[in-house]
Amino acid sequence: MKAQDLSFFGFFLNLYICGFNIELVKFDLVLMHPPSIYDFRKRDIVAGPISELVPSTGVFEMYPIGFLAILSYLNARGYRVRIDNIALKMLGSRKYDFNEELLKIDTNYIGIDLHWLPHVHGALNLARIIKEERPDIKVMLGGFSATYYAKEIMANFKDVDLVIRGDTTEQPMEMVLEGRRMEDVPNAIFRDNGRVRDNGFTFVPDMDYQEFDYTQIIKSSIKTMDVSGHLPYCDWMKEPVAMVLSTHGCSYSCGICGGSYFAFKNFYNRSGPIFRSSQKIVEDIMRINDDLKIPVFVAGDILMRPDRETDYIFDNLRKEGLDVPLLMEVFVPHTRERLLKLMRASPDVSMEISPDSSDDRIRFKNGRPYVNKALEKFVFDFMDLGGKKMDVYFMVGLSGQTREDVLKDVKYARHLMESNNNDKRLFVFTSPLSPFLDPGSKAFETPGMGYKLRFRTLLDHYNGLDQGRTWEDFLSYETDWMDRQTIVETTYDAIDLLLKDKEELGYIDREEYSRSHHVLESSRLAVRLSRAGDYGMLSRGEALIKDCGDKYTILKKQIMWGDPTSGEKKLIFMIYRSLHSSRK
Ligand code: SF4
Repeated sequence: MKAQDLSFFGFFLNLYICGFNIELVKFDLVLMHPPSIYDFRKRDIVAGPISELVPSTGVFEMYPIGFLAILSYLNARGYRVRIDNIALKMLGSRKYDFNEELLKIDTNYIGIDLHWLPHVHGALNLARIIKEERPDIKVMLGGFSATYYAKEIMANFKDVDLVIRGDTTEQPMEMVLEGRRMEDVPNAIFRDNGRVRDNGFTFVPDMDYQEFDYTQIIKSSIKTMDVSGHLPYCDWMKEPVAMVLSTHGCSYSCGICGGSYFAFKNFYNRSGPIFRSSQKIVEDIMRINDDLKIPVFVAGDILMRPDRETDYIFDNLRKEGLDVPLLMEVFVPHTRERLLKLMRASPDVSMEISPDSSDDRIRFKNGRPYVNKALEKFVFDFMDLGGKKMDVYFMVGLSGQTREDVLKDVKYARHLMESNNNDKRLFVFTSPLSPFLDPGSKAFETPGMGYKLRFRTLLDHYNGLDQGRTWEDFLSYETDWMDRQTIVETTYDAIDLLLKDKEELGYIDREEYSRSHHVLESSRLAVRLSRAGDYGMLSRGEALIKDCGDKYTILKKQIMWGDPTSGEKKLIFMIYRSLHSSRK
């Protein structure tokens, strides 16, 4: 039976029932996604609101979209590659044993993503255990953080055989798999008879040759009879979304962003962002529309493109009959005219924007060049034109931001809701910049931004996760305006005040507020006690494996699902906010 003969979900459900038995298939490469903290199931950890605003749980089980690009590219060329989401398997079962799985795997290479730095503990521990159990398998690392720390990894972590640098690495990886001489593989830094050899970082292709073929995930699931190893995140079976990647890098240089123009220019060997062509974007969206029938999240602000490109994209989506929800991130407010064109292409559009601060001065200082007035008009226009859902994000921990500024953000959030007549399509959030600053970001690299780094090397970050107990311990920085304790306490206060406002304005009911308040206060108390050396309240990591959704406040629920009062199937609205930055 062919995969396309079955409904996508019916098929996945059948496989899901089969559990995660690994069929003995010989692979060229297994792409493994680690949890943030390898032994989270045995440790007492308060992850706090770190993952409140992203689809992942505090384990950060979502693997980078690059895995899909690598899988699509290599399998289309006859290689045998699979994804294995170790983080999700650990999250899903207390019994899951990574060592046991390793004994069953037949592969030449294991590739581990170290894209987002909070995976450093999981990634290096996977590498260690692979080498203990299966020294015959070569371990390669890739991703932004692996690129940034490539030399340190190869100098200090002997369990890693090679790192492939860059944001687009399918072709060098193919050269490795086909057995080319390692010294010919661009962007590789590798071990050669005990010596580290470095081929430099020169290969920076465009991105139109990349494919993001989600049917490869289905095929790979069939081949391995292993669904959980392929799912992008914990609740994906219930609330699936597929991503279309429109750019690598960005035209802006927000202070906190490791995928910014500044970071790409200085650390990722690009003179600026690269863009997927408009034709490819239409193809990507329509492929998901036709094959999977699930919502599409477009990463990167396509509304910033010139008129002729946005006209091309929207006209073609309309002509081709787009009929799945479109979820879009925008970096700046856009004109009513542009929104109108977009909504002619699709009646079901949701959007997110991150002003970060309600203070124009702080927003400008942190790299977002627009004023509140423009934001307010944009939000109003979007709602007025019939947009489905608008998310607005504020952040704690910015350069130049005091506790008072954060509390003003909450007041402004209320103003935004009230001035839109408490429209329930508008969702406002606040979250901390945590746990780490992005290496390569202005905040990390430029002392003048006012960030005091506690961790700088890869080992510093590893040790932070290894020895810390609470998200306050994990925070890699404090600022000239707020120390760590102030950031933590202010975050709890801001989220609680915002929830209270939402209750008063009718966005959530009293019971939802009380439940969320309880979650927040329990978390706060555990952090406070831990600060004083009393670890009795720390929630056990095992709490994470019971239910993906149980531990969250109502804020998280509102990201994941649209109008909670709607009787229809919950609107899927998972935001891959972390693509270009650390805001997972
Ligand atoms: S935070 Fe967003 S807008 Fe700012 S530099 Fe990063 S990707 Fe660009």
